Amino acid sequence: VRILGIEGTAWAASAAVFDAESDDVFIESDAYQPESGGIHPREAAEHMHDAVPAVVERALEYARETDDGPETEPPVDAVAFSRGPGLGPCLRIVGTAARALSQALSVPLVGVNHMVAHLEIGRHTSGFEAPVCLNASGANAHLLAYRNGRYRVLGETMDTGVGNAIDKFTRHVGWSHPGGPKVERAAEDGKYVDLPYVVKGMDFSFSGIMSAAKQAADDGVPVADVCYSLQENIFGMLTEVSERALSLTGSDELVLGGGVGQNARLREMLATMCEQRGAQFHAPQPRFLRDNAGMIAVLGAKMYDAGDTIAIEESRVDSDFRPDQVPVTWRTNEPA
Ligand code: ATP
Repeated sequence: VRILGIEGTAWAASAAVFDAESDDVFIESDAYQPESGGIHPREAAEHMHDAVPAVVERALEYARETDDGPETEPPVDAVAFSRGPGLGPCLRIVGTAARALSQALSVPLVGVNHMVAHLEIGRHTSGFEAPVCLNASGANAHLLAYRNGRYRVLGETMDTGVGNAIDKFTRHVGWSHPGGPKVERAAEDGKYVDLPYVVKGMDFSFSGIMSAAKQAADDGVPVADVCYSLQENIFGMLTEVSERALSLTGSDELVLGGGVGQNARLREMLATMCEQRGAQFHAPQPRFLRDNAGMIAVLGAKMYDAGDTIAIEESRVDSDFRPDQVPVTWRTNEPA
């Protein structure tokens, strides 16, 4: 099975080809870089409009070059696309492109939940059976585990996503988007200053710590110290709730998903926590953590195999598409 994946929920216009037999994933991406401030939905949509055709063309070229089937057959078996969650104007462009391609190539369409894809790529690259997943991305932050045919949200942010929270702080101190890597670098020279730490049961909140971090920077606390402390507290919160999720589910496997998962300090904290409780930890390669069409193609292949395709007239996008809305059709032989 070979699947063309298309991603475009926020900033990454990306297309990929996944070949299930060789496990090869080809990804071509074009990132939107805001000139100032954070992601502007209209500009991001313009980026999708301009960049999606070229990344798709490159992926299809690759698919044709590596296809050893008859020339009369399409080079892929299906087109999978991100249906949401994400920015509505971006999703609509990607949805339109995916529908057009599915019709032009005469192959089925697969509608993928972007957050479930962040989880499934970790399950795929780790080979873990039933992991808990920490999705630490720009617009989201939650823990997922499988039960009774769905991925359940065990805990989540009560306000903003984790990457967006970090990016808000970096905007405040005048750094360009995205802020996460800059905070990681600045934190290397920092020491701890007190900032809020908010975990309530399985949920957590970033708004208080963001306001306090901005205030601390305004008050003249060295920005390196604020960055260091932000990382310690935010990642500490995520690690605490991940540990509780492992404990509640009895799972001994944790996978990481999302762009913030590229952060070495977060990975270190999670790895240490897992080691201490005898659990296994897996973080996918960075190219699979940040938004990318590879993860869409990989989950698309599993859904396609399970017959989980979607009719064009039912393929509308959903900017609030939650992971627990997705019937998990591709995990057969699972205990309930
Ligand atoms: P979602 O997947 O929820 O739709 P998203 O589309 O914004 O989120 P991702 O690619 O998953 O995108 O994540 C982007 C976020 O990752 C940005 O907020 C960015 O600041 C953050 N990020 C990237 N690298 C790092 C890093 N090294 N440390 C911390 N955060 C990082």
